[in-house]
Amino acid sequence: AGVPNVNVMGVKMVGPVIIGFGSPEQKNFYLPRILSGEDYWCQGYSEPGSGSDLSSLKTRAVRDGDDYIINGTKIWTTHAHHANRMFALVRTSDGPRQQDGISFILIDMKTPGITIRPILTIGGDHEVNQVFFDDVRVPVANRVGEEGKGWTYGKYLLEFERGAGIASAKLREGLKAIADLAESDLTGRAIDSPDIATRISEVEVDIDALEMTELRVLSALQTGQNPGAVSSILKLRNSEIRQAVTRLGADVIGHDALAVEPMRPLYKLNHEPVIPEEMLTVMPEYLNGRAYTIFGGTSEIQRDIIAKMMLGI
Ligand SMILES: Cc1cc2nc3c(=O)[nH]c(=O)nc-3n(C[C@H](O)[C@H](O)[C@H](O)COP(=O)(O)OP(=O)(O)OC[C@H]3O[C@@H](n4cnc5c(N)ncnc54)[C@H](O)[C@@H]3O)c2cc1C
Repeated sequence: AGVPNVNVMGVKMVGPVIIGFGSPEQKNFYLPRILSGEDYWCQGYSEPGSGSDLSSLKTRAVRDGDDYIINGTKIWTTHAHHANRMFALVRTSDGPRQQDGISFILIDMKTPGITIRPILTIGGDHEVNQVFFDDVRVPVANRVGEEGKGWTYGKYLLEFERGAGIASAKLREGLKAIADLAESDLTGRAIDSPDIATRISEVEVDIDALEMTELRVLSALQTGQNPGAVSSILKLRNSEIRQAVTRLGADVIGHDALAVEPMRPLYKLNHEPVIPEEMLTVMPEYLNGRAYTIFGGTSEIQRDIIAKMMLGI
């Protein structure tokens, strides 16, 4: 329907982990607040130097009575500046493998010692941040599951992050907006170019194919299963198709793409835009879309998972 997302980090990501591994107290407290939208979550996984190689993370939680004291930093944290809660992977001990000794912890963002620094991205928007932890006290009761087993819960969450976002309807909506522009006089009927018309059809076919896989995953979820490794196929194809849609958009509006305007529906500016209203979000979306194949695990990492877990290579 083209409406904004609900807080995906709550509903799609930490929700399933709390359902799967949380204590009864955590379920009773957090799940209703996720559903009502009362809590807005952010994801504290990545660190400078620990992105694809996530389990090398260094943010440390040291036990002090009934609390952990957390020190370190998380980066690229989407919407940390809006969130009142963060789920984070922190190191509680050092094991023989770097995946050992990681714990999954729920943090109240108003806790003293947390600093949020904005990172502005190429699309002109403030979406991501770096978050610093200086002696941040978090109750041990906020740990999900066993101490040191956070890598298992963290990976479980990634299946939902990558695989539970049914994307085909949204992709179709985005493509329709571009196709409408291509058919309008604003673009001099870009659709009359065989190249543009062919690419629109190709993307349509890609969306149809993705939808079939999504429906398969949806029926598995309906019977209580988790998405599994197929989530990497969904993440890979969704991000590649999203980029194809935004690239098509930039080509459809042609030279008008050179007039980069900040996302007008989000930010009100004093001067009038120099390109038509209908084109205002095309270029910011294209630029913002460069990140689709990076966040949630890069395309190279998804291909690696598909090769290992599905093809047995
Ligand atoms: C817009 C945006 C929002 C984000 N939001 C969040 C968030 O809310 N929370 C959070 O925790 N993180 C978030 N991230 C971080 C994201 O998960 C990481 O950027 C991503 O996992 C890649 O890590 P990196 O940036 O350290 O790149 P690197 O891991 O350094 O990768 C650099 C390049 O090397 C390639 N590469 C690395 N390892 C391998 C390998 N083994 N095989 C083949 N190629 C490899 C990668 O594919 C990539 O092309 C966000 C990122 C972006 C851009």
